Amino acid sequence: MKFNFSERLNKLPAYLFAEIDKMKAQVKAGGVDIISFGIGDPDLPTPKEIVDVLKKESEIDINQKYPSYEGLLGFRKSVSGWYNKRFGVSLDPGIEVLSLIGSKEGIGHLPLAFINPGDVVLIPDPGYPVYRAGTVFAGGIPYIMPLLEDNDFLPDFSRIPANILEKAKIMFLNYPNNPTSATADKYFFNEVVKFAKKNNIIVAHDFAYSEIYTGEKENDSFLSVNGAKDIGIEFNSLSKTFNMTGFRIGFAVGNEDVIKGLGAVKTNLDSGVFQAIQLSAAYGLDNEFHVVKDNNSIYKKRRGLLVEGLEKLGYKVYKSDATFYVWAHVPKINMTSKDFAMSLLNETGIIVTPGSGFGDYGEGYVRFSLTISENRIKEALIRMGA
Ligand SMILES: *Cc1c(COP(=O)(O)O)cnc(C)c1O
Repeated sequence: MKFNFSERLNKLPAYLFAEIDKMKAQVKAGGVDIISFGIGDPDLPTPKEIVDVLKKESEIDINQKYPSYEGLLGFRKSVSGWYNKRFGVSLDPGIEVLSLIGSKEGIGHLPLAFINPGDVVLIPDPGYPVYRAGTVFAGGIPYIMPLLEDNDFLPDFSRIPANILEKAKIMFLNYPNNPTSATADKYFFNEVVKFAKKNNIIVAHDFAYSEIYTGEKENDSFLSVNGAKDIGIEFNSLSKTFNMTGFRIGFAVGNEDVIKGLGAVKTNLDSGVFQAIQLSAAYGLDNEFHVVKDNNSIYKKRRGLLVEGLEKLGYKVYKSDATFYVWAHVPKINMTSKDFAMSLLNETGIIVTPGSGFGDYGEGYVRFSLTISENRIKEALIRMGA
């Protein structure tokens, strides 16, 4: 029997990393010790205090039942308390906070709540592939907003044609940005609010890297600017902040109607997050935590080491202090990012992510993830010829 995938599934771009995965297996089989800068998952452990809460709460029988759809009120209160303390944003935990099975889940499902076939969703490129997938699954049409280095990887709204704006219902944004590591400030977010209000567009800001910064300046929340809550929501996650990617817990906060729509989709598709996980996450958010500082000081050392080494090797690196990514130009002219990644892997056993995996405007760049130890970074630089 042969079963054909749906049109919506076939509409997604081909999996770019298949060839690289194949070459990785070959290089590994040849006995090479692979060093991977390809992993967007913290190597640092979940804090023991959080794991302890999970262990304890998982033994309590009410936590073993179906959770409430929108999340425990206690968890939502912890989110709202943290947003207030951290960003000065006030949120009603009853109607402006929704738990998610990781923020990826919420991002992927949001278009189902608001997009009719033919509606347009504005998507940054390069970007996290889930914005496009969620749009296509809902029958929406992705419209690419190029993120260019000349504009510090911020979209230029004045370039979006009027006929697109008429049909646009949602705009995804993501700062600090994966993969470019670019950040956005309140001035930009104010422009976003003006633009979205004028054109009646829901803003969905992906703030997964809110706590990852290696410089002095903390990252700004989209919701912290005036009027943002009138037109948008923010996705956030415990994944990167507390090294909890495997726990699968995140949340959406902001505009009541948007939260309600996303919640209605989820009520029909899932049954929420394991309560013991919600309680462990609430513990993390409630307690003044050393973990964010500790993580950032580790990422800072790694970033300094890698950027200095790459520059010595002749790479041109985009300067940023946020996320745990380093976004660099492909150092060879006339070589695609994929060909470069393949040849680097073949010659040195080092894995980097080709920029074209994040969209056409990622071409010409590669992404290094700072999720490996300083020793491994040093070893990689030596192999690359430093
Ligand atoms: C890691 C990441 C997420 C968060 O994923 P979770 O589902 O919360 O683990 C969201 N957006 C971007 C851009 C990411 O890199």
